[in-house]
Amino acid sequence: MSTIMYGAPCVDQLTLDQSRRVEALREKGVNVTLAVVRVGDDPASEVYVRNKKNACAKLGIVSREIHLPGDTDQETLENCLDALSADDGVTGILLQLPLPAPLKEQEALLHIAPEKDADGFRSGNCGTLIAGGEGTLPCTPRGILYMLKYYGVEMTGKRAVVIGRSAIVGKPCALMLLNENCTVTVCHSKTQNLEAITSEADIVVAAVGKAEMIKGSMLKEGCAVVDVGINRTPEGLKGDVEFESASKKAAFISPVPGGVGKMTVAMLMENVIDLAEKGAGPAGRK
Ligand code: NAD
Repeated sequence: MSTIMYGAPCVDQLTLDQSRRVEALREKGVNVTLAVVRVGDDPASEVYVRNKKNACAKLGIVSREIHLPGDTDQETLENCLDALSADDGVTGILLQLPLPAPLKEQEALLHIAPEKDADGFRSGNCGTLIAGGEGTLPCTPRGILYMLKYYGVEMTGKRAVVIGRSAIVGKPCALMLLNENCTVTVCHSKTQNLEAITSEADIVVAAVGKAEMIKGSMLKEGCAVVDVGINRTPEGLKGDVEFESASKKAAFISPVPGGVGKMTVAMLMENVIDLAEKGAGPAGRK
């Protein structure tokens, strides 16, 4: 019998603590405020931004949405991010990705002040992760690590395999597992004989975007599986892992939906509150 790693209990635990921290900041005169910049009218981005604003509202975090037209040029976007970075009333900034072409994401992200980078996507913050310092961690990998710890998955000395090498999930997740003393292998689209690698892993993180590509037969008995994939199929939402066969092998497995997806927004809230606390300092902001 495997333990199903649902996101909800982790989120409940986080929410209790987060509400208390937002209140404590308010008493110090700091209104935790997230500015969300959205460019264009991508329907998925609209939904994601709405979810983030709802999560803010539940915790008493002020959210400000800045919606720029799809034909916004690079300079206008960067000026907007510069202005928010300089605005004392804003404690965190998020640029909703992807940006419409031809806008350049990495260049734009550099215009978010590092101490307000709520998503942790700014290259400086990723660099801090490599150096083992204290930057903002990207939300989805931070959620994955929180989930593994919450369910008591042993990490030190274990073999972890991360499938996927994106800048927002795979690569930072691999670094974070390394920082937890796992022996980490990163697999990707050019990896040969994936099964030989996954079948030796104690922890498998699947972040690919291909429905049910990881089968139970590819896994080691008693492993922990974190399914990050979100794939819309005619049969509904599916992860990257075939849950039915994988759950017969794994000791721990996260479901889709109801697993990591719930953690990402909760970790964004965690980042936003962390940044406000750092900005406030021990004596308070004002
Ligand atoms: P991406 O498209 O940027 O990266 C996918 C990665 O998968 C690439 O690095 C590629 O090399 C690798 N890959 C492709 N085919 C492969 C194969 N056959 N074998 C091994 N590796 C292969 O995707 P992403 O942004 O990292 O997202 C991955 C998945 O996670 C998507 O389904 C996405 O929707 C989901 N996601 C979920 C959350 C969440 O909150 N739950 C957050 C971000 C992304």
